[in-house]
Amino acid sequence: MQLTDTLTTHFRLVEAQKSALARLGIHTIRDLLYHLPSRYDHGGSEGVVSGLLPGQEVTIVGSLKKLEAKKGWKSRIPLTEGWLEDATGKIKVRWFNQPYIAKMYGEGALVRATGKVTGSTDKVYLANPQLQKVSVTETGFFKENPTEDFFAIYPESRGVSSLWFRSALKKVFAALREVADPIPADLLKKYNLPTLKTALIWAHQPKNLKDAEAARKRFAFEEVFYIQLERGAIRRATEREKSFVVNADVADFVDAFPFAPTAAQKKAVATILKDMSSGHPMSRLLEGDVGSGKTAVAAAASYATVITKPEGQNFGTLQVAYMAPTEILAKQHFESFIQFFDTHPINIGLITGSGCYKFPSKVNKDKYTSISRAQLLKWVANGEIPILIGTHALIQKAVKFKHLALVVIDEQHRFGTNQRRALAKKDNRLPHLLSMTATPIPRTLALTIYGDLDLTLLDEMPPGRKRVITEIVKPTDRPAAYAHMHEQLKEGRQAYVICPRIDEPDPDKAFALQAKSVKEEAQRLKKEIFPKYEIEILHSKMTPKAKDDIMARFAAHEIDILVATSVVEVGVNVPNATMIFIEGAERFGLSQLHQLRGRVVRSTHQAYCFVAPESKGESTMARLKALVTAKNGFELAEQDLLQRGPGELAGRKQWGISDVGMEAIKNLKLVEAARTEALALVQKDEYFKAHPLLQKTLTARAAHTHFE
Ligand code: ADP
Ligand code: MG
Repeated sequence: MQLTDTLTTHFRLVEAQKSALARLGIHTIRDLLYHLPSRYDHGGSEGVVSGLLPGQEVTIVGSLKKLEAKKGWKSRIPLTEGWLEDATGKIKVRWFNQPYIAKMYGEGALVRATGKVTGSTDKVYLANPQLQKVSVTETGFFKENPTEDFFAIYPESRGVSSLWFRSALKKVFAALREVADPIPADLLKKYNLPTLKTALIWAHQPKNLKDAEAARKRFAFEEVFYIQLERGAIRRATEREKSFVVNADVADFVDAFPFAPTAAQKKAVATILKDMSSGHPMSRLLEGDVGSGKTAVAAAASYATVITKPEGQNFGTLQVAYMAPTEILAKQHFESFIQFFDTHPINIGLITGSGCYKFPSKVNKDKYTSISRAQLLKWVANGEIPILIGTHALIQKAVKFKHLALVVIDEQHRFGTNQRRALAKKDNRLPHLLSMTATPIPRTLALTIYGDLDLTLLDEMPPGRKRVITEIVKPTDRPAAYAHMHEQLKEGRQAYVICPRIDEPDPDKAFALQAKSVKEEAQRLKKEIFPKYEIEILHSKMTPKAKDDIMARFAAHEIDILVATSVVEVGVNVPNATMIFIEGAERFGLSQLHQLRGRVVRSTHQAYCFVAPESKGESTMARLKALVTAKNGFELAEQDLLQRGPGELAGRKQWGISDVGMEAIKNLKLVEAARTEALALVQKDEYFKAHPLLQKTLTARAAHTHFE
């Protein structure tokens, strides 16, 4: 058996299993081995039959009665049914797709059964319980096979159960000989980590929890180590590339801003200018809370670029590409750039899926005008438009620059060297990269995923900003909150109302409380709460054009209240909107709530954030209180990480890190160790010539990594 063998060479799989495994991304033996358990069950928490409730995971010692193999009533699935009886009563037991169980256990066989109580309260049964035979001695029950004390519970998908994984892995381990370990042996020794093969066995079939933990620690280290090696190698390769030398003075430009830059902004600009003057490509991430003024920094860097002439030429200018995640934002950046370049007029283009624009218009020098895509592309290609702002439309093949020297990326966590190179096209020089994000992430995570970038923090807010007053709205506080909003609306302010869903029912919550929906809530507010005001909706299922129209009308104050999903999360800027009311708040992570609240820090008016949870559990309240007390987004991100776990961090899907890897992020020591070792290795052996197995592993990983 080889790690690269597909599962079907060794397992006979029914269609349901095949599609379930495909959904989990499991195709090969290696995939199966790396499908790590989400947790372990052990025989410790034994229960009794009486009083069981649906949803409980229990272990019960009892005897099996009347086991019978049959077919599902409608589904025709083979199943085994019977009863498990202990001194307190009996409960139905049921196994799907395991008709052989009835033959394995005789009437009255004494077992430990572990499974999930399933069904409705009056008709519960134990689903797919794991069985162990037990024998009776004078001292009580004894497990027949003490090595199976712990068993793995897997992230399941309809069609493959934990039981299936356990038996499949048993077969794999029986057939698997050597598993070569890509991690150098001296590192394993230094950090006391098990070898790959041992770790796999310990993860899937642990004898005790300590082994299971040691295994997980190894996989966590491994993942961070691999990521660091990849990023470290990219970093070294990038540092050697040539780039455009930008050596410019931006003092006049910055002095002409309608505000005095903060010290943090000045420092960021200075750092960026230094990077861009070195002749090698800058790779910098500018991380700053919403409203910290990243656009102005990007404008200064752009200005330095466009007043620089291409090398050996006394005409023309270097060019800037500025990419935003949405059309709304691209348009907004376009408009702020027009403002920033007010005193230093220059051609600026905007390219999005739904249209192209150019500033200034021929007929009116203060306005921009719609132009054809072909015309815009022509002017970009011949260098007449030095700054091009846009959405993903910006990185299409047809877009060619003459001398692209700076790429600015807003809220895009991964932007690969290849994309950067593709943008530069024929030039053999790599453009400078300034990546910007308002997503505050914990330091351990930043160290991991941004291993190829230099980091600059904008850790200071422009002066005069009032702190957003944040209130947690319990059901009884609602009238007061609405009264307050009425007052502010009357003063001429505007509001966002955020709901967790658009309108479709939430399938996971068929019987439970449904979160508020944008469409219903907008109707309710119009009818019952704010009948006098103009209310509109905004969500991701609308066309870009419809979204733009709504945003434009909101910005022009033709709309008073915008009921939206979290699409307004990133970067939208309407200074007169000073209130945000967030429904179903516990469904969002703290850092996401903080991002949403960031929508109303744009103005010098006092802003308000109302946070309304659906439930009023103690822990929900305690968690939301952090929003009131935390000093900044980074603090909240750390809290998200510790309280809710890494899965809750905003943006995690973009990072391509597994659950185990994200667990590692909680552990600063481990992340730092993996980082130090990876950087040391890259210094010594950049192309992994002395570590062929590592090189192979990294190549295989790269094939699975998709930059967005
Ligand atoms: P973000 O970092 O979230 O992208 P923006 O660049 O959109 O923030 O800036 C938010 C607002 O603050 C804008 O209206 C901008 O003009 C303003 N601003 C930026 N820097 C300063 C400053 N130093 N003083 C006052 N206002 C500023
Ligand atoms: Mg921004």
